[in-house]
Amino acid sequence: ATPMALLVGTGRGAQLGVLIKGPEVLESTRRVDTIVLDKTGTVTSGRMTLLEVVPAEGQDPQEVLRLAAAVEEASEHPIAQAIVRAATERLGEIPTVSDFQNVQGRGVTGVVDAHAVVAGRPALLADWALHLSPALRSAFDRAESEARTAVAVAWDGEVRGILVVADQIKPSSAAAISALRGLGLTPVLLTGDNEQAARQVAAAVGIDQVRAGVLPEGKVAEVTALQQQGRVVAMVGDGVNDAAALAQSDLGVAMGTGTDAAIEASDLTLVRGDLWGAVDAIRLARCTLGTIR
Ligand code: ADP
Ligand code: MG
Repeated sequence: ATPMALLVGTGRGAQLGVLIKGPEVLESTRRVDTIVLDKTGTVTSGRMTLLEVVPAEGQDPQEVLRLAAAVEEASEHPIAQAIVRAATERLGEIPTVSDFQNVQGRGVTGVVDAHAVVAGRPALLADWALHLSPALRSAFDRAESEARTAVAVAWDGEVRGILVVADQIKPSSAAAISALRGLGLTPVLLTGDNEQAARQVAAAVGIDQVRAGVLPEGKVAEVTALQQQGRVVAMVGDGVNDAAALAQSDLGVAMGTGTDAAIEASDLTLVRGDLWGAVDAIRLARCTLGTIR
């Protein structure tokens, strides 16, 4: 294609709500044969709501919510936002956290009202030798088998309860993924979330290949592994935890509704924040460069 055609292509992209970093990006867009999709915030809305607070025996559910929300207030994760929103609505003011730490892909820790609080995956709590009681464990597993995400909450050396949050699949996702398949792309769902939640979302949007429970470093490794199989990989993501994988992929695609880190690491930004933008970008690249598969 001529430089002029490429420039026209990027201009047309902007009209379609696809911001293209440079004209050369259209070439990698055209060659892509595999599309790796982050789950939370990409295939799903990423706007989660708190459904349930399950206290451990003898614990006050309001206190579980209050201390968890205090730590989560320092996190920008959709899970954190759901917990903080619910706590503010139900309990009013939330105490402030100190010594906050975000443990990527696993949860958060911090000190609230002189309590050392941990909120996140059971594997994170296990780092402090904290384990869920059989009753909490079964509530946790039940929630996750229903495609929800459960957050375990502990402080001062004791597991105090779990919080159950849920996300919604974007209304556009299934049809856009079907259109991507129609363009010859193989979709792969990639997520730090649990296997069951990932499988249910994948089934609902027509994806067969799922990589769940993947830590942020692992997302890069998954993209690299596909590239080593000879695939040309587009990765679509929205989170800070997706940035390295977006940079590693042949075509990084950020949701315009996502974090700055994801947008900076990407070649394309989908302004509307839905997967139709990816369909438009691939169609545009193929017609601009005059190639039909
Ligand atoms: P995704 O790949 O779906 O965007 P992440 O890699 O951000 O997910 O997180 C993976 C898992 O780690 C989440 O499903 C959740 O169980 C846990 N987690 C991450 N951040 C938090 C947080 N702020 N609070 C509680 N749990 C968290
Ligand atoms: Mg995400």
